[in-house]
Amino acid sequence: MSATYDCIVVGLGPAGSTVLRDISLAGVRALGIDKAVFPRDKCCGGAISAAAERQLHVSGWEETVEAELYTVRVALRLGDELTHTTQEPICRFVMRREFDHMLFEAAKETGATVLCGEPVVDVETASSGVIVHTPTQAFKARCLVGCDGANGRVARSLGLQPPRSGAAIEQEISVPEDVARQWDGEVYVSYGTPPWGYGWVFPKKHGLSTGVGSFSPRNAQLPLHMKRLLEHCGLDGYASRRSGHPIPLGGKRRRLHRGPVCLAGDAASLCDPLSGEGISHALHSGHIAALHVLKYLNGEVQDFSAYQEEIEKSITRELALARWIAGKLYRLPRLFFELLQRSPSTLALYFRLIAGTATYSEVVQEVRRQLTHLSLFSGEKMS
Ligand SMILES: Cc1cc2nc3c(=O)[nH]c(=O)nc-3n(C[C@H](O)[C@H](O)[C@H](O)COP(=O)(O)OP(=O)(O)OC[C@H]3O[C@@H](n4cnc5c(N)ncnc54)[C@H](O)[C@@H]3O)c2cc1C
Repeated sequence: MSATYDCIVVGLGPAGSTVLRDISLAGVRALGIDKAVFPRDKCCGGAISAAAERQLHVSGWEETVEAELYTVRVALRLGDELTHTTQEPICRFVMRREFDHMLFEAAKETGATVLCGEPVVDVETASSGVIVHTPTQAFKARCLVGCDGANGRVARSLGLQPPRSGAAIEQEISVPEDVARQWDGEVYVSYGTPPWGYGWVFPKKHGLSTGVGSFSPRNAQLPLHMKRLLEHCGLDGYASRRSGHPIPLGGKRRRLHRGPVCLAGDAASLCDPLSGEGISHALHSGHIAALHVLKYLNGEVQDFSAYQEEIEKSITRELALARWIAGKLYRLPRLFFELLQRSPSTLALYFRLIAGTATYSEVVQEVRRQLTHLSLFSGEKMS
């Protein structure tokens, strides 16, 4: 056995770095382990909403911002479009390589021990805590937070299997200066490309992030839709780098703890089932997990069931509403597009949602009002 800690955090993306920083600042003897060496790439559009900004307690994070969003072009299946422009930025964009590195360094600066480049291959629970195995070492701790993402080893080791996920592919494109300038401050989002999802073009400092994501476990032929998106936007033929990753959709009840272990971020399936956004919930669940680690170590709680309740109250409840809206939107994208075209109040709410300043409860009320108005789905109950 290599060493003993109060808490081990597995995975040091936004969720794990947040947990590690919070508990280490509170004086916990903590070890963070990540299979990657930072800085490392992560398949992601890198959109940081106002909701995510509210959870970012690390000063200087703005230095990683690459672009700001002022104009949104919303399309239906690469066809009809509507455009909305604001004076204030709707959201910001980062490259995850730099953003995650900044969060990782902020956690490390607190004095926490970190081990990078070594995957966790197994986690065992024991009477006095947990034993974590990497290919070469074993570590003991009183408790553990699994932040190892959508394919998390911690969850699998403990039989906390996630439900089926959505999936997305992302393509970072290098474009000439004049093309990049055309996209300055602007995004393109096409609903229904692919079915049960959307395609996007986001601006970055030295290129563009493009992608397609489907929020249904069904095979949505993502590469084909990616090709169509790039052709439509005149972005095919540039040098690019493609990657793909699951999107672990939230809004469904799922067990997030066992004995001295709990899960946070993507490992806990906390991505928004409507937008695919997951950074804000990774950061938020990281802060909540850190508070519960402190309670656990102080003996205030005997397990992480109170953590699960708090996640359900603060995150899953909203994501369940997002899931309901997504069910309607992605089944009938034309109806929603027409709603956005016809109803200024729905359009305004949609942009507040993208900006992270509206809640899904508000959106559900508006959607119901509009759908009833259109005499569609009248009398339908939320599941
Ligand atoms: C294509 C795509 C686009 C997206 N775009 C956006 C967006 O624009 N905005 C947004 O908010 N969200 C977006 N998301 C979702 C977002 O990327 C995730 O929700 C977010 O990264 C979750 O953070 P996390 O810390 O939970 O997990 P991750 O960021 O996945 O970090 C997990 C960490 O665990 C480590 N790890 C994994 N396995 C092990 C192991 N066995 N041992 C040790 N370490 C391990 C990994 O190396 C990694 O560093 C997107 C997702 C995809 C797939």
